Amino acid sequence: MAKRRGFVFPGSEIYGGFGGFWDYGPLGTELKNNIKKAWWQSMVYDRDDVVGADAAIIMNPKVWEASGHTEAFTDPLVECKACHHRFRADKVKEVCPDCGGELTEPKKFNLLTEVYIGTVEENKTKAYLRGEITQGVFVNFANIVNSTRVKIPFGVAQIGKAFRNEITPGNFTFRSLEFEQMELEYFIKPDEKEADKQFDFWKQERMNWYVSLGIAKDNLRFREHEDNERAHYAKAAVDIEYQAPFGWSEFEGIHNRGDYDLKNHKLSYKDENEEYTPWVIETSGGVDRAALFFLIDSYQEDGERVILKLNPKLAPFKAAVFPLLPNKEELVGKAKEVYQMLKKEFNVAWDERGNIGKRYFAQDEIGTPYCLTVDFTSLEDDTVTFRDRDTAKQERVSVDKAVPYLQNKLG
Ligand code: ATP
Repeated sequence: MAKRRGFVFPGSEIYGGFGGFWDYGPLGTELKNNIKKAWWQSMVYDRDDVVGADAAIIMNPKVWEASGHTEAFTDPLVECKACHHRFRADKVKEVCPDCGGELTEPKKFNLLTEVYIGTVEENKTKAYLRGEITQGVFVNFANIVNSTRVKIPFGVAQIGKAFRNEITPGNFTFRSLEFEQMELEYFIKPDEKEADKQFDFWKQERMNWYVSLGIAKDNLRFREHEDNERAHYAKAAVDIEYQAPFGWSEFEGIHNRGDYDLKNHKLSYKDENEEYTPWVIETSGGVDRAALFFLIDSYQEDGERVILKLNPKLAPFKAAVFPLLPNKEELVGKAKEVYQMLKKEFNVAWDERGNIGKRYFAQDEIGTPYCLTVDFTSLEDDTVTFRDRDTAKQERVSVDKAVPYLQNKLG
């Protein structure tokens, strides 16, 4: 369905694909944009203490040395001695899951993707595609403090692409080599109590956000990291997990990074009367994993009918407009007027193919919350029918009220 309806396509498909890379089609792009917009709204616009940033993907390689990633951003890797398939040591038991063969001892495998910058072969410099978007915020810490009026505690929000040489990409878009993250770095005073308070606040805040956008509570849980699995920078870490068809899976992490990063970059913060290295509470979510889980969680079948019960805020189209019959000029003309009027405010679909029932089904399958039909009554009393995706109930609304009516419904 994701491919057929234009949500997600295999990357470079006409050349046989490219393992671990995916492309988003017209509807997937809308879904991802809507997720990012809703995230930015709640993390930046709804608050007074968070500003945004958009750092470069490729940075001076010294950043990754200082951050510890060239040294410690590794997964333990085992290889099957028989079929030579590779796996993450922490994801397999004693034998190869593909052929039952014997596995090698775990080897460390760095996840950073190398790139070479420069035009002349001899002068090429090795750099890295960022393995997490986080460091772009830390290296700009002083710039942000100096160019804005932020005062501790404050946060910096960022959304952007990250790249990891994953050993075992898979589970559709869940583990890709190129993906998008949405992250908050929240800077606080170096104090255990304050850190615990902020950690608990952000942990709950992020869980509430997924629930407010419609993910079923039963399919969500927190999972605290064990001491031996925490990332090299983390003092405390909890994952938000989703009950995916392939098992409970992380799609956001909340970390207490302490002063690890700012200290490594030799950065500090000056209050009126003291200088110190702030601590950081981080919320790090994946846009692609969120998009995947919003899709899975909202997908329902009712006999032949598929309904994507996406929260209207996330739905690619907010409404679809149809003329009852495609070959009646008056109906098409009036429906086009309604369509143009709504298009000024919302992303709206137009459809005049096939019969009306088929068009409703086609919109249900992609999660369009409302379908507006112009019929013969519309020509007499200037109304349209509004059909609700979830209840299939219809209401007549006058054309001049259609925009506020839809705004109200979308919330
Ligand atoms: P995992 O244990 O699944 O490899 P991680 O703990 O390494 O994930 P983080 O480094 O905490 O992940 O990254 C934060 C978020 O970035 C993850 O919760 C996830 O949503 C997203 N993310 C990380 N790696 C990938 C990937 N390979 N593909 C898609 N999203 C990813």
